[in-house]
Amino acid sequence: MVRVHFHGAGRAAAGGGRLKALEVKGLSFSYEDGTPALKAVDLDVDEGEKVAVVGPNGAGKSTLLHLVAGFRFPFQGSVKVMGDPLEERTADGVRRHIGLLFQDPDDQIFMPTVEEDVAFGPANLGMDSVGDRVLKALRSVSAEDLAKRRPHRLSHGMKKRVAIAGVLAMEPGVLLLDEPTAGLDPRSRSGLIGILKGMRRTMLIATHDLEAAGEVADRVVLLNGSVVFDGPLSELVAKDDVLDAAGLEPPQVSRLFRRLGAMGYGTVGVPVTLDQGAAEAVRVIERERAKGRGGGR
Ligand code: ADP
Repeated sequence: MVRVHFHGAGRAAAGGGRLKALEVKGLSFSYEDGTPALKAVDLDVDEGEKVAVVGPNGAGKSTLLHLVAGFRFPFQGSVKVMGDPLEERTADGVRRHIGLLFQDPDDQIFMPTVEEDVAFGPANLGMDSVGDRVLKALRSVSAEDLAKRRPHRLSHGMKKRVAIAGVLAMEPGVLLLDEPTAGLDPRSRSGLIGILKGMRRTMLIATHDLEAAGEVADRVVLLNGSVVFDGPLSELVAKDDVLDAAGLEPPQVSRLFRRLGAMGYGTVGVPVTLDQGAAEAVRVIERERAKGRGGGR
């Protein structure tokens, strides 16, 4: 079993400027068998920012997360986490800034009860007030009622929440989430999206779920070995050729408004979240009503 999330000490930005939580420059990496996974990747994440790394299977998303978490060496280029350069000899210290959520919660959960599991990380790091940290972490994923349960009997969705609580209990500076919505039923998926959306934390989220990326992230980075696009999702969903080449599907709400646009009901931007879609729908309805009052369109 692997238990690989670490406490992040966190630091104030020098001079009051916005601290870069992650600074990745020219990052290239190939596996031992020669498989190239990343080529000259540049990526910055500000403290407090939520960035989704999207891309098809094999694009290098997990590799990027594992490199940033300090689990694989050597790489070319440079990685800084909360201002600290990541090198093989400094990796233990740098990893304390990072909380990594594995794709499969069974790789992360191994204690007999949920509360013991969530307590494992902070206790192991010698943190104080472990009981309070456990409760706070469980509350933040709406799982406080699971405290006494046996984790391996829980549903996949509940296990994901427990695994996230285990990471949060160590209060890492940067949260790395590997495909957090993969394998969840629709209710658990939207519950988890709501939880991640409500969290005020620095996050790098690897996913091919653009709908989840739209709801949770401030910005998306499309990875396909190297960075193909870096910007708002609303801009990416307008680029059919780029999405097609990466085998990605825009959120349903974006597809709906693009279709309405083609039918003459244009909007200023393409919505990527339900809230944006609702706001655009109201604008379209009101505009059409006004046209009706003015003698039809
Ligand atoms: P993603 O998370 O976007 O699906 P990965 O980071 O898992 O992509 O994979 C990137 C590339 O590295 C792929 O070509 C994949 O086959 C390869 N790869 C991943 N893990 C290993 C490994 N342990 N050994 C060799 N090649 C690997």
